[in-house]
Amino acid sequence: MTYDKNNIFAKILRGEIPCNQVYHDEYALAFLDIAPAAPVHVLVIPRGEYISFHDFVDRAGEKEMNGFFKAVQKVAELLELEHNGYRILSNHGADASQAVAHFHVHILAGKPLGALLPK
Ligand code: 5GP
Repeated sequence: MTYDKNNIFAKILRGEIPCNQVYHDEYALAFLDIAPAAPVHVLVIPRGEYISFHDFVDRAGEKEMNGFFKAVQKVAELLELEHNGYRILSNHGADASQAVAHFHVHILAGKPLGALLPK
């Protein structure tokens, strides 16, 4: 599978589509999910062209990986989520229902989130 430069998050990164930005740095951009699944639902994406978590770990350099995951933690800190807790998740591929083929981490918080998966 090759990276599709026209995926929706690539367009957001290029500024072609607006987003409600929460944080940005040289490694990552964080913005509100358009269809929040929790009171706090932020997506964090790397600036590089990676299809999924699996692809990111395969191809990104250590500095890029470190910078990205530090940015995820930074967002949680900015939103003061570390006190009550938060969930991070990332979908890779069909069985996980990955809808957008640009690696992203979901940060979910703002209420007790319950079970990991619906029964
Ligand atoms: P996935 O299923 O790929 O892990 O999650 C994709 C997420 O992207 C979904 O939670 C969906 O609501 C969100 N999303 C899809 N299109 C847009 C968009 O144009 N803007 C924003 N902010 N979020 C989007």
